[in-house]
Amino acid sequence: MQIRLPKKVHNIINTLEEAGYEAYAVGGCVRDSVLGRTPDDWDITTSAKPDEMKRLFPRTVDTGIKHGTVTVLLGGEGFEVTTYRIDGTYEDGRHPSEVTFTASLKEDLRRRDFTINAMAYNERDGLVDLYGGLADIENQVIRCVGNAEERFDEDALRMLRAVRFSAQLGYRIDETTGEAIKALAPNLQKISAERIQVELVKLVVSPHPDYLRNAYELGITAQVLPEFDLCMETPQRHKHHCYDVGEHILHSMLGVEPDKVLRLGMLFHDIGKPQTLTVDPDGTTHNKRHPFEGEKITRKVMRRLKFDNDTTDKVTKLVLYHDYDIAPTEAGVRRAVNRIGEEIFPMIFTVRRADIAAQSDYMREEKLAKVAYIEKLYREILSRKEAVTLKDLAISGNDLIAEGMPSGRQIGETLSALLERVLDDPSLNTKEILLKLYKEL
Ligand code: ATP
Ligand code: MG
Repeated sequence: MQIRLPKKVHNIINTLEEAGYEAYAVGGCVRDSVLGRTPDDWDITTSAKPDEMKRLFPRTVDTGIKHGTVTVLLGGEGFEVTTYRIDGTYEDGRHPSEVTFTASLKEDLRRRDFTINAMAYNERDGLVDLYGGLADIENQVIRCVGNAEERFDEDALRMLRAVRFSAQLGYRIDETTGEAIKALAPNLQKISAERIQVELVKLVVSPHPDYLRNAYELGITAQVLPEFDLCMETPQRHKHHCYDVGEHILHSMLGVEPDKVLRLGMLFHDIGKPQTLTVDPDGTTHNKRHPFEGEKITRKVMRRLKFDNDTTDKVTKLVLYHDYDIAPTEAGVRRAVNRIGEEIFPMIFTVRRADIAAQSDYMREEKLAKVAYIEKLYREILSRKEAVTLKDLAISGNDLIAEGMPSGRQIGETLSALLERVLDDPSLNTKEILLKLYKEL
């Protein structure tokens, strides 16, 4: 097995070897190279200690010096170079609370989470695969290095990482590894929200976001996203549906591109259904006002998982408006754009199509035709550059002040009233007409 190392990686390894140390590319970059994928970043593992590395390279950053990691800077690029180490237990943070340096590559590879992530490579020795990573790639399986329960005891996050890698690669999780997850999933409670968020997002934007099902079956979501478990256990008996709520959500995620906001939007769009469930005497289920409940739950979950405000705002808007009743008229669409916001509005089409595709085929053509018609109206409104927000109005607060209106709340109210008129009839959006309307008001 031969891997083409980038020139700079080759140079770093060479410099270390010439100084008498061992050095290898390691982990994700080796896995991705074996898979024929281009690695995002190249990590290097070495027998050199951090102070020894710093002597060899003119420009370095102490990224995680306590854990043996130094970033070597070469022509504007940074490469993490880490001393061979044995990890103690991981606690809440990103890093193990204690590490011990070791002289042995074998020990360093043994501390890594999965066999496919525990391979090293350099030009002198070729691929170093001591734990069967290559065979597991061939067999498409995620397997812990060594004893699975011990590995998950050291760092519970690895359980979620197992599902994340399985979703990224389309691999199954080895049976023993899966059994260990079922037994130890409650330990995920010890893991910080930030670390969980990172893995959850990687899972959701992967080629197989529906593998979240495996996280449910292994008991992982019960710990990190119990709101989703409720969905998996909430039936839908309604002519528009063919799946229970959870399966509908999983299928709907497959219907949008792997974008973080869109995929999270689908994950949460029906999260309010369990709380709003009603059942008719004949067994038909309904979930009236579930987008409102869903918005609240989404905000709560995203706060808990420490998502940034921007992502949270966008996703909660998609949840709130995923089913919003847009009147299929030009004025109706302008009003909806005004309400939902120009940035989010176009995403609603994508969300609706994915939602519809994950429903029963009852009235599917009609539902899709309505989406297409509203989208056509929207495109026309855009191309005519019609006003949909206050900033598009042909007059501003300053114009009203120039007309003698005292500054204050009245200005905003007046502009809003004028916008209402313009939303109905865009031809009113000239300074002259609006000032005339204002005087009439
Ligand atoms: P990605 O493509 O997401 O970057 P990756 O495999 O590079 O995938 P990282 O989280 O960047 O994953 O970690 C780099 C390497 O460090 C992994 O391949 C693995 O060998 C090791 N590693 C990372 N996190 C853990 C962990 N929690 N437990 C054990 N080993 C880990
Ligand atoms: Mg990486």
